[in-house]
Amino acid sequence: MPTQKDYTSNYKPTWCPGCGNFSISPATKKAFSDLNLDTHKIMMSFGIGCSSNGANFYNLYSVHGIHGRALPVAVGVKLANQEMTVLADSGDGDAYGEGLSHFISTARSDVNITYLVHDNHLYSLTKGQMSPTSLRGMKTKSTPFGSLNEPFNPLATAIINGATFVAQGFSGDIAHLTELIKLGIQHKGFALINILQICPTFNKFNTFDWYKERTFHVEDVQHDKNDKDKAIDLVTKDDEKLPLGVIYQADKPTFGEQLPQIEDETLVKQSIENIDISESLENYK
Ligand code: SF4
Repeated sequence: MPTQKDYTSNYKPTWCPGCGNFSISPATKKAFSDLNLDTHKIMMSFGIGCSSNGANFYNLYSVHGIHGRALPVAVGVKLANQEMTVLADSGDGDAYGEGLSHFISTARSDVNITYLVHDNHLYSLTKGQMSPTSLRGMKTKSTPFGSLNEPFNPLATAIINGATFVAQGFSGDIAHLTELIKLGIQHKGFALINILQICPTFNKFNTFDWYKERTFHVEDVQHDKNDKDKAIDLVTKDDEKLPLGVIYQADKPTFGEQLPQIEDETLVKQSIENIDISESLENYK
């Protein structure tokens, strides 16, 4: 069985001391190890941001793409090769700012991939500007008098747009996060795991203690993850409590399962020798 070390490259992470990415990365590797996934059967697609520099720190197939485009790369890989375990990995700015339309599209199509979003409520690689999930009133480099916007709600957005696995984890709760990542990978369909991540360098407001006071495990309250209305209620309450765990899960055919072209054989294993496109070309004359 592969160990966490097998998924680790020789490059040393450049994250700041105390960064939540130092918890999320080992939780992800532990999930891979517990699921006994071979390194050559995993592909991770990253965008741009502190967390996306993780592309260099994993030993598996990875793409360090362009800003907000982790998802389309992951979707392409999964549709070409259904046998790969495919994850996309972004920060909150990358996922819900530059990549918002891809986020909604992927939730709607329910492609069978897992999306890990490191949500520290800031653009931290560029030194701490407001991001879509920055809280109202939050003072950042770009909002010195406090943000005037309501924060974006990724969990509710994913649920109402068709994602079939929606969860939230916390970088300060590694064992719980590991289990969520395992469940997300095992889920058949688009799995969003929004990970509340501390950024001790630039986010002095949403600290470890701040999250500890406000987070709770949905397993400890009687939450029915299969009830869509209850899931939406849970993530739209205005009571400052932040649920951790699987918020919503549903079972429906994935995008790939509905494609007759890959019903019998995954695309990369199909021969291209006998493909005849002359009829299609005729139609364009
Ligand atoms: Fe982590 Fe924040 Fe440092 Fe980026 S700036 S590496 S998110 S602590």
